Amino acid sequence: MAGASIAAELAQLGGGAIVMLEAEDRPGYHTTGRSAAFWEECYGGPEIVPLTLPSGTWLREHGFLTPRGALYIGRAEDSAAMDAFVARFANSGVSIERLDRASIERHLPGLRPEWCMALWEEACADIDVAGVHQHYLAAARQGGVEQRNRARVSQAERVSDLWHITTEHGDTLRARILVNAAGAWADNVARMAGAAALGIQPLRRTVVQLRTDPLPPVDLPLVLDISGQFYFKPESGRLWLSPHDEEPSPPCDAAPEELAVAQAIDRFEHVVDWRVLGVDRKWAGLRSFAPDRAPVYGFDPGTPGFFWFAGQGGFGIQTAPAAARLGAQLLLGAERDELTQAIDAALYDPARFVLDSR
Ligand SMILES: Cc1cc2nc3c(=O)[nH]c(=O)nc-3n(C[C@H](O)[C@H](O)[C@H](O)COP(=O)(O)OP(=O)(O)OC[C@H]3O[C@@H](n4cnc5c(N)ncnc54)[C@H](O)[C@@H]3O)c2cc1C
Repeated sequence: MAGASIAAELAQLGGGAIVMLEAEDRPGYHTTGRSAAFWEECYGGPEIVPLTLPSGTWLREHGFLTPRGALYIGRAEDSAAMDAFVARFANSGVSIERLDRASIERHLPGLRPEWCMALWEEACADIDVAGVHQHYLAAARQGGVEQRNRARVSQAERVSDLWHITTEHGDTLRARILVNAAGAWADNVARMAGAAALGIQPLRRTVVQLRTDPLPPVDLPLVLDISGQFYFKPESGRLWLSPHDEEPSPPCDAAPEELAVAQAIDRFEHVVDWRVLGVDRKWAGLRSFAPDRAPVYGFDPGTPGFFWFAGQGGFGIQTAPAAARLGAQLLLGAERDELTQAIDAALYDPARFVLDSR
């Protein structure tokens, strides 16, 4: 998503000759193809909201969102966490409402008695992830971007003012600017290019698709634990459930661990009285975070021509439109527009880590 979206936006802004190099047979094989596909105003924290809100407008206008609603639930012992959550987002522009037990039950039948409080976020929606990804790939192609798959970058060397880039199959190309949109591999690509790694850490996240009795209602919201132990939502008569795991991992083709699957089901069974009939499928993907968990967009302060577009964490789909537009504007020195004018780019500048370490 990162590579396709910024390539499309660069092409749109007249960014010159652009080549997208993808290591796999097809784009989207790694994290982008493994998401839980929701747009949730609060997800990722208040620092992410300025990217999420304008992206939501864009996604809605382009027909990529379907209303779902989100319910953050808690027990008596989660009362402080609920208050902290509301306080944290107080001036962020998101809209959250407290619900009583009767209203919670209307959204989530079969809820066990100890879950007595909730926050309701009406605006939450499902995202057509494949639709957004295909939109950007098509826009990039139409804008003249050359897309090469099976083209893993294996060397990048700065000679004079040009990058000399080599792929694992020995193809070579030269470029003025190298955009690092390598997801879980972002630090590896930086090291390869002689730039300092920023400590972008891939964390594994697991999802299981369950058959349940009763079937999940079609209008079931996205249900999240206020203490971050699970989330679930309906998907075509099945339930997508995650234990909200964050297991550090090297960059790889991530696979689910049995323990995470068992934890997810155990936590779910403590939430509702539904029966779990079976696991249809399960998967895992890597969410990659910079040390402060905000994304990294901008030129590297120490390596000329090296542009970071990484650290999209658990919000890289829902923030893609504003992030890609902002990234392209920063790279080309172009003016901000409606989608990006309210964003403080300093929050995401790679130089923040260099300044921090002084
Ligand atoms: C289980 C799960 C649920 C999620 N749910 C949501 C959600 O509901 N909403 C949301 O907004 N986000 C969600 N996310 C996060 C979202 O999926 C990511 O933020 C986003 O997909 C990151 O996109 P990306 O392009 O940076 O990474 P990727 O999709 O991983 O793309 C990086 C690409 O770089 C390529 N690459 C790596 N090294 C090289 C190299 N040397 N040369 C060439 N190519 C290379 C890889 O092959 C890969 O295709 C979820 C993630 C997971 C795992």
